[in-house]
Amino acid sequence: MPKLSIRDLDLKNKHVLIRVDFNVPLSEDGSEITDDTRIRETLPTIRYALEHKAKLILASHLGRPKGKPNGKYSLRPVVDRLRLLLDHSIGEKINVAFAPDCVGEIAEELSRQLESGQVLLLENLRFHPEEEANDPAFAKKLASLCEIYVNDAFGTAHRAHASTEGITHHVKQAAAGLLMEKELNYLGRALGLGDSATVPAKPFISILGGAKVSDKIGVIENLLGKVDALLIGGGMAYTFLKAKGQNIGKSLVEADKVELAGEMLRKAEAKGVRFLLPTDHVLADRFAPDAATQIFSGTGDFPAEWMALDIGPETVKTFAAEIAGASTIVWNGPMGVFELPKFAAGTTAVAHAVADNKGAVTVVGGGDSVAAVQQAGVASEISHISTGGGASLEFLEGKKLPGVEALTEKS
Ligand code: AMP
Repeated sequence: MPKLSIRDLDLKNKHVLIRVDFNVPLSEDGSEITDDTRIRETLPTIRYALEHKAKLILASHLGRPKGKPNGKYSLRPVVDRLRLLLDHSIGEKINVAFAPDCVGEIAEELSRQLESGQVLLLENLRFHPEEEANDPAFAKKLASLCEIYVNDAFGTAHRAHASTEGITHHVKQAAAGLLMEKELNYLGRALGLGDSATVPAKPFISILGGAKVSDKIGVIENLLGKVDALLIGGGMAYTFLKAKGQNIGKSLVEADKVELAGEMLRKAEAKGVRFLLPTDHVLADRFAPDAATQIFSGTGDFPAEWMALDIGPETVKTFAAEIAGASTIVWNGPMGVFELPKFAAGTTAVAHAVADNKGAVTVVGGGDSVAAVQQAGVASEISHISTGGGASLEFLEGKKLPGVEALTEKS
């Protein structure tokens, strides 16, 4: 059942509390925002609410203050940046006030004083242990600030916290913000959720990489029932190659997952899903930026002391051809140790191949693959870049996200 959207509601003169994700990286002393992407991502929702004359309250967490006030994790530096971004985006000065605590008398008074088209940013929700404990009394206090609740923080939707789940029990309407809606549309469509119009176009492929098989097992299991092919790279590929009997030298392996990896391979075969593993590799004599390297191809034993740190050129070619022929592509996780230039070629090539397929719906999630498409300069050519690493993985695993489930259904 689709969820209520902010676009379905009459916001005029109403106190609207938006749970945003302003968990931005700060400088060491906590005074400077070093990357404001997360604030920018939610600007369309904020702008929408202001244009529709809401009295806007913004709530977020920042970092891990562990339930205690801590100046290092204050959201205060966000006020100026938000003013600046709103000024650029709307073209007029917006009044942004700051409440030094997210609940209590001051927050309530500042909220009462809000006029339509004004903004109140609340201090870090996680200065209260009740936020992560999803304490009902705390959730009720937050809810008392507003008439309408909107969740635009997809990145924390996999957590049942007071501001993402608890609060929805104390408001009449809980709706998805524009960013949340976009995330659910793209990821939901890839999983074939919703009506038949949202079935992913075939061929549907998923490219999975990153360090560990254990992190992606749930995703592989869920996608096996949906995709035409899985393309596996990164450290996780070597547990699969080991399961196939290849000696992988000093490459990353999760010994306790080899059996499970073998099971996945058999399941894929039974379901007719093509399971593509790297057929050649960039081997290194040690894990270092200046390591000696060699290309190794085939199914024979790796030289005993060497480790695979990237997919090789032949694999890049195979993967690029698969990507070029697909109509829906979901990518999560790098193909190698892309942080080191010597081992970045595979990931960069995949980023370009995904971006070059202009006819496909392309969805990229997970911090590292997002960084890779940004590094490759092709971010704007991807249909959707997911803002929630953990949340998008859980969604792809087929799990219900508490912050999404709790939203009001469209009637
Ligand atoms: P994850 O957090 O699971 O998405 O994994 C990302 C990390 O996996 C990155 O820091 C990569 O450097 C690392 N990685 C990717 N491929 C390999 C590999 N072949 N060997 C070791 N680490 C890898």
